[in-house]
Amino acid sequence: YSTKASLQKEDSTIDGNSFKGHDMLAPFTAGWQSSDLNPLVIEKSEGSYVYDINGKKYLDALAGLWCTALGGNEPWLVAAATEQLNKLPFYHSFWNRTTKPSLDLAKELLETFTASKMAKAFFTNSGSEANDTQVKLVWYYNNALGRPNKKKFIARAKSYHGSTLIAASLSGLPALHQKFDLPAPFVLHTDCPHYWRYHLPGETEEEFSTRLANNLENLILKEGPETIAAFIAEPVMGAGGVIPPPATYFDKIQAVVKKYEILFIADEVICAFGRLGTMYGCDKYNIKPDLVSVAKALSSAYMPIGAVMVSPEVSDVIHSQSSKLGSFSHGFTYSGHPVACAVAIEALKIYKERNILDQVNRIAPKFQDGVKAFADSPIIGEIRGTGLILGTEFVDNKSPNDPFPPEWGVGAYFGAQCEKEGMLVRVAGDNIMMSPPFIMSPEEVDVLISKYGKALRATEERVKELKSQ
Ligand code: PMP
Repeated sequence: YSTKASLQKEDSTIDGNSFKGHDMLAPFTAGWQSSDLNPLVIEKSEGSYVYDINGKKYLDALAGLWCTALGGNEPWLVAAATEQLNKLPFYHSFWNRTTKPSLDLAKELLETFTASKMAKAFFTNSGSEANDTQVKLVWYYNNALGRPNKKKFIARAKSYHGSTLIAASLSGLPALHQKFDLPAPFVLHTDCPHYWRYHLPGETEEEFSTRLANNLENLILKEGPETIAAFIAEPVMGAGGVIPPPATYFDKIQAVVKKYEILFIADEVICAFGRLGTMYGCDKYNIKPDLVSVAKALSSAYMPIGAVMVSPEVSDVIHSQSSKLGSFSHGFTYSGHPVACAVAIEALKIYKERNILDQVNRIAPKFQDGVKAFADSPIIGEIRGTGLILGTEFVDNKSPNDPFPPEWGVGAYFGAQCEKEGMLVRVAGDNIMMSPPFIMSPEEVDVLISKYGKALRATEERVKELKSQ
């Protein structure tokens, strides 16, 4: 967001109320200048739609921020929150005091994860806090095992794991590091598994995966396996541009980390609870993690909550050593907040009772095929995705090596056209991301495809114009 042109793109063009000069320092917006812009103020939601403060209606093709799985006005979730607010709006979970909803949610949540066995759940308020908690758990675990040097983490280029100091360090996006003195020195990054962008001429997906697993092994050997504690990965990379793994990738990566007693952390913050058409991303790619992070759809975003799930092996070590190490001195005032837990219990119940996986798998092919039908557009390099997550990358000449000049703001232009058409998507440079709510009807998927098509045609015209200048 550094150019003047893109700053103007961020300025909502809607007539009516203006909030220019507001007092909020907005996250992931053009820094201190954010109040110079008129933000798009969302006031109301209904199913797959949201409405701005001037009454304009938008199809929410990103489900908030990849999170409102059950859409905008699910009465069961509202009822669960109201009931809990009336009964007990808050009590904490420190020092062996807690509340019933947090105990119940731990049990319910662990039952949803079947790719490998999970023994315990720890609650946080967000995905970032879940991933920070992972690092502290892993360090505590290795201290308990008397392995004080096994402390480094390996994450991947283009990953997104959150924006707190540690989660931002794990993330592989330069914007999260530059100007913040990150990443922290104990974090290493290995290859981004994006086949279209990074494969060598003639290399198959399987060969690409083998090369990446070899690179990971070489990194581990160079650093010393006795220093590497854990590897963290999103099953499908989200904010880095929606990047599903290439064939055989996770099989090969898991074999490497296992060989060197490195824990596998699955960051399921976007993928969990059905987004990929399976309950977890781990189910889809046969990942057997030691630790799992969730957030977002855990409560369908009606309340802020995240969680870490811990395998019996890790949990047993921590348990058996606790007399030596003392208490697990980590937690948040709102860890296991009863209202958030009550809402999450209800969300999990809805996913089960309404067969949410069937619903996702009913609309996902329509969504994927419908958008991918535009892949031959001259300004699109790749459309990629699975289930209800999808990324579009704009490039020139259909080549990953021919980006459009950043000052053209091609992605931002597409995003602005979507907004004009009444649809909200995520724009990151020339990458467009979508992750619609699970509850979308087939007709709403048609509306999404039609709006996407209109925005794309307008963007193609714009690029033609810019090229002719
Ligand atoms: N991990 C992943 C994979 C995410 O996509 C996100 C948020 N987009 C996070 C972690 C961080 O979650 P939060 O914003 O709730 O801190």
